Amino acid sequence: ETNNPDNELNAWDRDHFFHPSTHMAQHARGETPNRIITGAEGVYIVDRQGKRSLDAFAGLYCVNVGYGRTKITDAIAAQAAALPYYHAYVGHGSEPSIRLAKMIIDRAPKGMSRVFFGLSGSDANETNLKLVWYINNVLGRPEKKKIISRWRGYHGSGLMSGSLTGLAAFHNLFDLPRPPILHTEAPYYFRRPDRSMSEEQFSQYCADKLEEMIQAEGPETIAAFIGEPVLGTGGIVPPPQGYWEKIQAVLAKHDILLIADEVITGFGRLGTMFGSDHYGMKPDLITIAKGLTSAYAPLSGVIVSEKLWRILEQGSDTFGPIGHGWTYSSHPLCAAAGVANLEVVDDLDLVANAGEVGAYFKKALNDAVGSNRFVGEVRGEGLMAAIEFVRDRDDRVFFDASEKVGPRIAAAMLERGVIGRAMPQGDILGFAPPLCLTRQEADTVVAAAKGAVEAVS
Ligand code: PLP
Repeated sequence: ETNNPDNELNAWDRDHFFHPSTHMAQHARGETPNRIITGAEGVYIVDRQGKRSLDAFAGLYCVNVGYGRTKITDAIAAQAAALPYYHAYVGHGSEPSIRLAKMIIDRAPKGMSRVFFGLSGSDANETNLKLVWYINNVLGRPEKKKIISRWRGYHGSGLMSGSLTGLAAFHNLFDLPRPPILHTEAPYYFRRPDRSMSEEQFSQYCADKLEEMIQAEGPETIAAFIGEPVLGTGGIVPPPQGYWEKIQAVLAKHDILLIADEVITGFGRLGTMFGSDHYGMKPDLITIAKGLTSAYAPLSGVIVSEKLWRILEQGSDTFGPIGHGWTYSSHPLCAAAGVANLEVVDDLDLVANAGEVGAYFKKALNDAVGSNRFVGEVRGEGLMAAIEFVRDRDDRVFFDASEKVGPRIAAAMLERGVIGRAMPQGDILGFAPPLCLTRQEADTVVAAAKGAVEAVS
């Protein structure tokens, strides 16, 4: 048995590998699965046992072009041979990082003009906060510093990005520095406080709550509002009708910046290049990561509007070079992956495919499970979708997270060869497949979801 390389790897995994977002004690005791993934092609991953699964969550909503794209891996290899690394400090650059910045601005909403590169969505959001504070200092308004985020928002798990996140598990026991970060109402229509509200009325309710918070704190103290166009890890929740329009009206009134966290929605997931395009958002800063390279290499970014860029220029004219940067900002291998990835997105018209197959998938999912008595709602936008389970759909009795309905259904789906994600809330099953998903593959996901829901309920 000790000669079995799988046993050895599994033991090393349990004894030495600190997994993120994992029950540490259960994993060390071998009570949770350690699935070692060895290969992947298209929308399928393969593990050491040779078991194939359709990855209907694109890793962590990130392998947007699907697996096995040699155009990207070849570009990384060629860049590694030519120049594996050089830094970007004090005006240096590599060819792919400059090309990629240009490609991003060509695709970004109007008015955006510069890209700062990082490595993860979390560090990009930390950059956002530093830029917002820096800008208000340059503008001579040092009291305008508070940031408003939303309950159920997910913005990362760093010190400040974790504070922006509005999910308890990412705060508990960590002593995160919450002030000056505040959380307002989530645009979660399914769980609206009053069932008689229309979507427009609930959007107005959220905007009123925001206005109330701003008034209570003092508008002169609020610097920025951050939100994902569609809530992701908070439950895959598209906003109700009129939400972003009403929120933006409040922000404009009080001269509050808008940060669109497009780590999931950027580069096509909603069927438009950016979620901001989809909802008519006019952000000052946009966070990007995941779909920028489809996770073939780690890369994130902050897209800065021309308006803010002018203030940043004014800042360095007055105070000197900005004191912010990472060793790996715009790492050449990652930038090369980004350039090739965006070319694949264009070549295969994946943005349009996400919209088209996304609409097909959501309808098929709803037709398959929507009338099940434990299904409260099937929702989604583009290739992001979720099923929310309830104990009683008529009386809207919710499951307790400890009942682990989501994990049980995800496990039943996996037995049927498809990966869906049990969202951290416990009663939501999420889908965010690669944007190259075909209708036939969508049918496979729907069949597995239907089988799993019927088996568990
Ligand atoms: N922002 C959003 C909207 C995300 O979904 C995520 C990750 O899921 C992050 C930020 C954090 O990104 P990372 O995990 O790369 O730090």
